[in-house]
Amino acid sequence: MVPIDDVLADKMLIKNLPLDFHEILVLVDRVIVQHDSEENKQRMADSVNLAFQEAEGECIILANEKQILFNNRFELDGIEFLEPNPQLFNYNNSYGCCRTCEGYGKIMGIDEDRVIPDKSISVFDGAVTCWRGEKSNEFLITLLTNAHKVDFPVHTPYKELSKKDKNILWKGSEHFQGIDGFFKMLEEQLYKIQNRVLLARYRGRTNCPECEGTRLRKEASYVKIADVTVGQLLDIPIDELFVFFKNLQPTDHDKQIASRILLEINNRLSVMMDVGLGYLTLNRISNTLSGGETQRINLTRTLGSNLTNSMYILDEPSVGLHPRDTARLVKVLKNLRDLGNTVIVVEHEEEVIKNADYLVDMGPGAGIHGGEVVFAGPYKDIFTMAEGSLTTKYMNGRMAIPVPEFRRKATNRIELSNASLHNLKDITVIIPLNAFTVISGVSGSGKLPLSEISCFQH
Ligand SMILES: [Zn+2]
Repeated sequence: MVPIDDVLADKMLIKNLPLDFHEILVLVDRVIVQHDSEENKQRMADSVNLAFQEAEGECIILANEKQILFNNRFELDGIEFLEPNPQLFNYNNSYGCCRTCEGYGKIMGIDEDRVIPDKSISVFDGAVTCWRGEKSNEFLITLLTNAHKVDFPVHTPYKELSKKDKNILWKGSEHFQGIDGFFKMLEEQLYKIQNRVLLARYRGRTNCPECEGTRLRKEASYVKIADVTVGQLLDIPIDELFVFFKNLQPTDHDKQIASRILLEINNRLSVMMDVGLGYLTLNRISNTLSGGETQRINLTRTLGSNLTNSMYILDEPSVGLHPRDTARLVKVLKNLRDLGNTVIVVEHEEEVIKNADYLVDMGPGAGIHGGEVVFAGPYKDIFTMAEGSLTTKYMNGRMAIPVPEFRRKATNRIELSNASLHNLKDITVIIPLNAFTVISGVSGSGKLPLSEISCFQH
């Protein structure tokens, strides 16, 4: 039931109703409120129900000389809302997905990266490449001469512009047309071949304007948790999301409803962090995950379901995992075992091998030289029972891969200055040429964007 606001409630007073308002009010019940009486509450609930039934979902309650209109529809301020259900928050479902992008979050449109490839320069210095042409230049000139009227900073590098300023640049203002207006003009004159060429040059996969890339239909964003929409939550890294839910202070009523689901959410998020995935966001596209990441996500799902008496076979779950997170992965695997499951892991990682209850060592060599069980038993026995095994020799330090004494001297180098892409923050690096160079770092630290830039530069 949704109470209408006071102003509207006043209007509903019978004495204020216009004369042509031929609605008839029927009195259903008269009651004195007794807060501590269950029976009294039940009676009021029954009466309200009866009123809803007889008046097609509407009911007026007169209390302290004031009439308040209620209805059992899900509406406020004249807008009717969708009754929230789990499908509404699922972009993989035809009911919950955004109508414009069908739940992909991207559509074919004007690609920001193509229009403004260098985000470190300002609009004045020519950041907007589509306005560099002889004719299109007029758009830039109009903007530059009028920018002060809307306080648009023409000398600020594009990447430092506020959301509001970017909006002005793209959408335009009353004094000049923005980038969108420019492309709209091109689209209106498609008969000109140069316009078609220009449009094709700047077209690409862009964030869906309807859902802003959240992939959910608009109605889902009307539902908020502590003033944040589900779409926004999907965009926060898991470790920050964990803090958000930890600091969440629901009212007693909300707590009663949400306690089970909150428990589940907190559990899943903490397991995601335990397996070293705290840097991921929930709306990360699954085909951009590495094999190790996918396996570890599946692990969190099975741990959440509390299945017992199941067998899990994992192939190198530590792939892509930073060594500091291996111990936490082992903890998760042991939890799975302690729930009464069988966990079989194929692994090279010493930290995982060490923690096995039972170890099977395959060998003795690789390929045609392998295929035999060299050792099978508790981990500690491998050192005495399979001394010849390569696994034993490397683990007890009798064999090792030495660090080369001499490194090849790099004669040339390539320098990337002020690189900014995804999470790279304006960095400058020198990469030696004619040498084998390794770039390392924890998952999500920016290795991939760096390789994208260097490929581009070559
Ligand atoms: Zn969309």
